[in-house]
Amino acid sequence: MTSICDRLKEIRARMCAAALRVGRDPLAVRLCAVSKTFPAEAVAEAVAAGQVLFGENRVQECVEKIPRCGGGLEWHLIGHLQSNKVRKVVPLVNCVQGVDSVELLRGIDRVAGELGRRMGVLLQVNVAADGAKAGFSVEETEGALVVGLGLEHVEVRGLMTIPSLCEAPEEARPHFAALRVLRDALVLRCGVPLGELSMGMSGDYEVAVEEGATLVRVGSAIFGGR
Ligand SMILES: *Cc1c(COP(=O)(O)O)cnc(C)c1O
Repeated sequence: MTSICDRLKEIRARMCAAALRVGRDPLAVRLCAVSKTFPAEAVAEAVAAGQVLFGENRVQECVEKIPRCGGGLEWHLIGHLQSNKVRKVVPLVNCVQGVDSVELLRGIDRVAGELGRRMGVLLQVNVAADGAKAGFSVEETEGALVVGLGLEHVEVRGLMTIPSLCEAPEEARPHFAALRVLRDALVLRCGVPLGELSMGMSGDYEVAVEEGATLVRVGSAIFGGR
């Protein structure tokens, strides 16, 4: 049986190798350990192995788990956020990945303003134009970015995508590449730094790193099956 610590080491080594294969700086890619469905004890094991960035996809689980995990960690909400739950989650997390509507952007801005803080967000893009997936279309993303840039209490840090389930990691590559191309175009057109590209999960994070990911969201390869 391998431990969470062993698996984290293995994944970090693979991320590093993937970055070097394409001439990227390995330090420019961060691992978001997706701890959803796993208890605070599993988070503690990962923390003991040097992990500081964690992802959760349900607000109620954030409310229960994050306060039990101690300070000094960085938490990202990675799943869909309903507007009526913004108030609960904004005080707990550092970044809301997967913002998929302008209403949600405005809602986060309002609550973050009330709390006197600025919330990092990533815009979720449905690059594969998959009817079953949330996110802005490639065409809608610039409009959403412009709205986000006008909000005082929201900091749009970049883009994220969740491609539909692929049978092989290579099948996700064109979708990851499309997100990078979109990010580069938006940086040029809007003149803003849009540093983060969140893409890649347990099955395809190495391909995502090769295609420019700055954040990979890895759950089961670290914590085990759910
Ligand atoms: C669960 C989840 C992940 C991690 O998935 P694994 O396949 O377990 O690595 C990544 N991103 C999102 C949005 C998720 O909901």
